[in-house]
Amino acid sequence: MADSYFCIYKNTMITKYKPKSIGRRTVPARKVSGGGRVNIENFSRRRTRPSGRGQTYFKAADARGKLKIIVLGGLEEVGRNMTLIEYNKEIIIIDMGLQFPEEDMPGIDYIIPNISYFEGKEDWIKGVIITHGHMDHIGGIPHIMGEIGNPSMFMGKLTAGLVRKRCEEYRECPKLNIAIIDETSSLRLGLNFKVEFLRVNHSIPDCFAVIIHTPVGTVIHTGDFKIDFSPVNDKPADLNRIAQIGGQGVTLLLSDSTSATKPGYQISESSIGDEIDRLFEKINGRIIIGTFASQLSRIQKIFDLAAKHGRKIYLQGRSMKDNVEIAHQIGYLKFNPHLLVCDTELRRLQDNKIIILGTGAQGENNAFLMRVVTGEHKTIRLKRGDTVIFSSSIIPGNERTIQSLKDIIVRQGAKIIHYEMMDVHAGGHAKQEDLKLMMRLLKPKFFMPIEANHYMLQAHADLAEQVGISRDNIFIADNGQILEIEKDVKGNIGGALSQEKVITDYVMVDGLGVGDVSNIVLRDRRVMAEDGMIVVIATIDSKTGDIIGNPDIISRGFVYMKENKKLIEDTRMKVKQIAKNSSSRTQNDIDHIKNTIRNNIGQFLFSKTKRRPMVLPVVIKV
Ligand SMILES: [Zn+2]
Repeated sequence: MADSYFCIYKNTMITKYKPKSIGRRTVPARKVSGGGRVNIENFSRRRTRPSGRGQTYFKAADARGKLKIIVLGGLEEVGRNMTLIEYNKEIIIIDMGLQFPEEDMPGIDYIIPNISYFEGKEDWIKGVIITHGHMDHIGGIPHIMGEIGNPSMFMGKLTAGLVRKRCEEYRECPKLNIAIIDETSSLRLGLNFKVEFLRVNHSIPDCFAVIIHTPVGTVIHTGDFKIDFSPVNDKPADLNRIAQIGGQGVTLLLSDSTSATKPGYQISESSIGDEIDRLFEKINGRIIIGTFASQLSRIQKIFDLAAKHGRKIYLQGRSMKDNVEIAHQIGYLKFNPHLLVCDTELRRLQDNKIIILGTGAQGENNAFLMRVVTGEHKTIRLKRGDTVIFSSSIIPGNERTIQSLKDIIVRQGAKIIHYEMMDVHAGGHAKQEDLKLMMRLLKPKFFMPIEANHYMLQAHADLAEQVGISRDNIFIADNGQILEIEKDVKGNIGGALSQEKVITDYVMVDGLGVGDVSNIVLRDRRVMAEDGMIVVIATIDSKTGDIIGNPDIISRGFVYMKENKKLIEDTRMKVKQIAKNSSSRTQNDIDHIKNTIRNNIGQFLFSKTKRRPMVLPVVIKV
């Protein structure tokens, strides 16, 4: 019940989530899977010993090896991000995301990275680093961690809260060994890696770029980022430090390409807030906002504006409540709990004192907004005078759903605001000028665009060339391709993309099943979705081989049987003929009859209808 939730919620703030912090200072060595040891050094030490030129830290490491960069997901799509960095049988993993399914994957919940590459190499994994708390970076964790030996994980405090919450929902997720990091942390992972963090901005607080010092130089993985000089409830990216790292020499930059096709600079989260502020001023009725539960910066702004405009917030949608609760408890969302109202309080409030904040700006079926609009929500009904704000841009592919959602909203007398300034998805990522700034400051020798579709990677590569990175040193890879970087005897560093690929086939998650939906299952679903199915049941006398009575025909999604009596009757006759022409004494014969029914009836129905329903023959011997 919403009522009890809020009442409990208000009374239990700051109790449940107490992430295990490793603090800012020295922490005892921690045993990790594979026998490696993790040292978390303090920040002041990093200052006295300048970072960069990573090889000075690697007396024990062999600098003659090859550094391999393998991206398992995120080079042919926006989503499923997972990158691994390998050197001399030591691996660190960055992110473990999910990807939402394509349109031709009916019934699939989401896709996770394929981890076949780690088979037999579990001991090599020295740590998993998570850049931030969005699903396309954390969604695979509950499914993957148990499969790779549950190595130590490192992430920001808010990210840890979101990861732990997600893992509670999956029984297969082992108890995770998470250490909290921030921009002052410094980790030694295995013999070959020293890792530091750089705070960057995005649409959720606590985002970090990862600096990895390796025996062949420094690698930087930006994670998702934008450069925001006035972020909401987050610290701005530290440009000084980025420049300092650039000055020390960067061998390879892996950088976010999500908005690489968009010219200009990304707008600041606080100017998006100003726009919402102006909108709120003009609205007199209830405000209903649909957004992503992960857009915590946007959600913070809505809380601030609710307080400013004297409105209360009625929070809806499970993921929204979870995220707000976690972020509030660890201090990443700041608001007075009295801003939140329960069902009973909501009924007493005037319309101009209410903001209803929930999930579902993409027309998602079970999300709060859809349930309200279709009248399926328990307590909230749309009414004249309401204003519905879609606080996110439309993800390609969702256009039609959102259009029909808007039709239903307007028919009920409510107004719609779908303001492009409040563009959530693009809003979190660096645009062309920001990307160039990052490259100018870091001055990498090699560059590899990541985290987008191929054409966006290409656009990012063009930008890299514009800022002076040699085309030969820019690598546009596909998922699973291996970028190898090595040092020759004279100390020159060379890089090349191998043609060999590791396996990155889709692993699909459907309900409780992980990876058990193959392409064959998907093809069947598509066939059934497009042309339906027909079941043919024939009973055969085992002594004579004759068919008994009339075969039964059942159609679902193919034709309406009552209106197609002739077609059904002709199909029956065909089945009888097939049975008559075959012998049917052994099991082989039965299989043969089934195959013949499947093929011949399939062809027959196609010749009559130009449709290809799935034909399921059932032959019973009596
Ligand atoms: Zn993100």
